Amino acid sequence: MQIKNHHFVVHKFGGASVKNAEAVRNVATLLTQHIQGSAVVVVSAMGKTTNELEGVLGVLTKEGVVSAQSQMNSIIDAHEAIARELGIIVDLRVIFESALKTANTLEDADARYDALVAAGEDASTRVLSAYLKAQNFDAKWSDARQIIITDSKHRSARVNEHKIYGSGASLRKALSERENRIIVTQGFIGRCPSGKTTTLGREGSDYSAALLACAIGAKEVVIWKDVPGMLNADPRVFDHTETIKELDYGEALELSYYGASVIHPRTIKPLQNEGIPLFVKSFVDLNAPQTRIASYPGKLPGIPMYISRPNVSLLSLGPADNSFVGEDHLSTLFARLNTSGIHVRMMQNSAVQFDLVFEEDPERRHRFVEGLGDGFWTNTEKGLELLTMRHGNAQLMDQLTAGKEIVMEQKNPSTHRRLLRAIKV
Ligand code: ASP
Ligand code: MG
Repeated sequence: MQIKNHHFVVHKFGGASVKNAEAVRNVATLLTQHIQGSAVVVVSAMGKTTNELEGVLGVLTKEGVVSAQSQMNSIIDAHEAIARELGIIVDLRVIFESALKTANTLEDADARYDALVAAGEDASTRVLSAYLKAQNFDAKWSDARQIIITDSKHRSARVNEHKIYGSGASLRKALSERENRIIVTQGFIGRCPSGKTTTLGREGSDYSAALLACAIGAKEVVIWKDVPGMLNADPRVFDHTETIKELDYGEALELSYYGASVIHPRTIKPLQNEGIPLFVKSFVDLNAPQTRIASYPGKLPGIPMYISRPNVSLLSLGPADNSFVGEDHLSTLFARLNTSGIHVRMMQNSAVQFDLVFEEDPERRHRFVEGLGDGFWTNTEKGLELLTMRHGNAQLMDQLTAGKEIVMEQKNPSTHRRLLRAIKV
């Protein structure tokens, strides 16, 4: 347990909450209403900027830097328009162009990715901090790369969570210097020992907020979302969703592990270790219900929770000579999974076959299959749905999966999971 600075709070704003000038203004209003004392504000790239920069990276790889630059111009224009509307001056072109230039010098595809997409967070934080200053906040921009020191696993870099408090000294000093200081910093990004930019995995800004909270010994973390807290199911997929008001860290960990997309899976653990509560609040409706995730030993959510992953793949494989799947094969498989960056959601084995279920990602899947070599046969089925239910019952599961074919099923007292195939009519 680190020393708590009971007045510091970390607020995290995702892409949707800074997607245009009006949204940025709304962030400033929220901060005026909610901040007492100094705070760290962690921001993602604006709107869909990360996806768009991934597109630019594709062009850079296939067609070269000139085409990539022209593709990137629309991203720069959109950011400049927002800055103009907010009445602030930030050299956004330089941020994006220098990221592209750096990316173009890097050989490794994942290192290139990180160098380029980080521009999204660099730009959004520069815009927000300039706007907050213009609104008379005591705002200061701080580079998360100074604090979030990672390994060199680009695109899914790991952080030594036990050392994070040690990296936070400068941040703690900056927060303590003044009464109401706001440090604006990037989510999602870090720096590896060689000095290159790394990223923590898509949607990783929640995890950044948790790490920064540990780095400053914060009182709490608030994740601002466009939904009323953490719901028992994704409202885009299920009817009649409800907010879970209080959730134990352990349950929240399980839910995010199974693919609940509200919070990045790595977010909970460091907060649990330090006993820092996490609030999930709506930036759309301040009176909407909210969720507090903290230590509630033995407390269950009280209602069934559902998680649907609509686009998973089932990769079945076995030894090419049809022999048994032995421990030697398993050790090869797991080593390849680790290096290919596939995150397995479900697995199952029989005598001659091993089945893996994961979010479809053609690049990583090919990397994995190629790495296996000739020793294995493989077969992939795409477009399946993985439904997980926690604390429900068999009838509910049957109702939800009626009309779909069950490809695989796993069950224990708290969790019931079905891998489903839509029946073609
Ligand atoms: N901007 C990054 C992404 O879209 C990180 C985040 O939003 O948390 O994945
Ligand atoms: Mg984002």
